[in-house]
This record gives sequence, C-alpha cells and structure tokens, in this order.
Amino acid sequence: MSTQPFITCENLVKIYKVADLEVVALQGIDLIINSGEMMALVGPSGSGKSTLMNIFGGLDTPTAGRVYVGDYNLLEMTRREQVIYRRREVGFVWQQTARNLLPYLSARENVELPMALDGLPARQRRERAQMLLEQVGLGGRLNHRPDRLSGGEQQRVAIAVSMANKPRLLLADEPTGEVDSEAAEQIFSTLRAFNRDHGVTVIIVTHDGSVSARVDRVVGMRDGRTSTEILRRRASDGQIASADEYAIVDRVGRLQLPQAYLESLGIAERARLKLREDHVGVYPDEQDTHA
Ligand code: ADP
Repeated sequence: MSTQPFITCENLVKIYKVADLEVVALQGIDLIINSGEMMALVGPSGSGKSTLMNIFGGLDTPTAGRVYVGDYNLLEMTRREQVIYRRREVGFVWQQTARNLLPYLSARENVELPMALDGLPARQRRERAQMLLEQVGLGGRLNHRPDRLSGGEQQRVAIAVSMANKPRLLLADEPTGEVDSEAAEQIFSTLRAFNRDHGVTVIIVTHDGSVSARVDRVVGMRDGRTSTEILRRRASDGQIASADEYAIVDRVGRLQLPQAYLESLGIAERARLKLREDHVGVYPDEQDTHA
C-alpha cells in the first residue's frame, strides 16, 4: 500500500445555518487518508460522519479550513469542477438500495449510466459494465432489474455502478445496513477486492462491528471531531498482528478523554497534568500529583 496522502483535511469546519441557529457539524477536523487505504468511520448519530462524507463526495462545501482530495481543492472548486469531480473522482454507495439504482433500468444499464453521462462510446460501456458485474459476482444477472435482485445483490450492483468511471475514491455510507450477515459479508468482500485489485481508496461509514473489525484503520468521531483511532498492523502473511487504540491529538494539542475514564476518576471541569519521563499523567483536581 502506498503511503502517499490522498485526502488531507486541515481544521475542516462545517456550520449549518437553520433559521437563526448555527449547527457546528464539524469542529475542525485534521485527517490524512493515504492513497489505497480502506478505512471505517464510526461514531454516534449526529457526530458528523455524513457531513464529512458529503464534503469528500463534493455534495456539500465546507465552511472553513482546507480539504484536498488528490489534486482537487474542495473549498475552491468551480461548479464545473465539482461536476467533473463527482463524475470521475468519486463513487458512492448509500445504505438505501433505492438511492443507488434506477428501478426501471437493468443492472447493466444502471452500470452503463455514469459512463454514458461521461461520454464513453456504447461498446466500451457495454463491455465495462459486463466486466464490472462479473467482478461483483453478478455476471448472470446482467438484464435483471433491481426489483428482481436481493438487497445484497442490489448493493453489489451499486458497487459496480460506483466503480463505473474508475474513481479513485469510493464512499460507502452504511452499505451493509439493510442486509443480513451473509449478504453483508459479500458486500464487504466486494469492496475489499476493488480496494486491493484497483487501489481505490475506500471510506465506509458503519455501525456494523464485523465491518469495522476487518479494516486496518477505524476513525471514531464525536461531536464533530475525530476522537479515537484504531490501527491494525498486519504480519507478512496478511493476518492481523496487533490492534492499537489511540486518542487523537489535534493540531493545537487537544485530546478527548473517554467518557468512562472521566467518570471513573471523577474528572469534571479541569484536570491536573504532569509531565513524566515517558508519559503525561492526568489527575482529578484534588489528587496529590506527586505520588
Ligand atoms: P452523523 O452522520 O454522524 O449522524 P451528521 O453529519 O448527519 O452526523 O450530523 C452532524 C450534525 O449536523 C448534527 O447535529 C446534525 O443535526 C447537523 N446537520 C447535518 N446536516 C444538516 C443540515 N442539512 N442542516 C442542518 N443541520 C444539519
């Protein structure tokens, strides 16, 4: 896997204005995602996951900060660049199968559609659509419409659609949210195969523990910030050798302590910090920090 930064966010902020109220959905995200990574984004509802995905997908514009995807500066894209970015650089798979596919088109026609919009000649579209549907294991269902496919099959067609224009970034928002565990496994394996064989960078928003347990990086969000990160390291045979959980320290040195730690130590508004030789001690206000 290359370690080339592909997505760079610096102090990314998104504020929604609703009537007179401001909702700060992203409170300054710093995040680097390397080219070819496959990662999961997790966190409670309302923590900002969809907002971040919509920004990465060019569907929403940030309020402040910086965000680059490849050569694109997402804060300064013109309308025309935004259309090209969405069409060529990024593919989407949504949780609701109905949002991914047009119901009156066959699987093959659904996969051909983004290529037609991008002006690819008919023969090449047909060939590529067939190849992609074979890759997702649906070579025998080319002419089926979505209502004749199971939920899991529809999601795999959706992955083929998302890969039609050879994007470098694939965004999947709860792709296994509406299917059983066997179909979820096939969807995950399909995403994994495109990541491995085509080098597409994959970001999956998920509540599905079996998905987040199988990617090398899991970024946790809380209150519009990235709060935790799990990194798994693999041995040379590809098996997971270790998994470490980290708290994220932002650019100005802020770090979120897990709620359970705060409660366990009775830390509320302030804590004492002590620099030790090889670590930092965090103590409740009252505690003797010389111990
Ligand atoms: P998640 O995907 O983690 O559930 P979201 O990104 O959807 O979180 O939401 C983050 C915050 O932004 C929430 O407080 C949500 O209510 C708010 N929010 C999201 N989209 C909008 C919008 N279009 N208008 C106003 N507030 C929004």
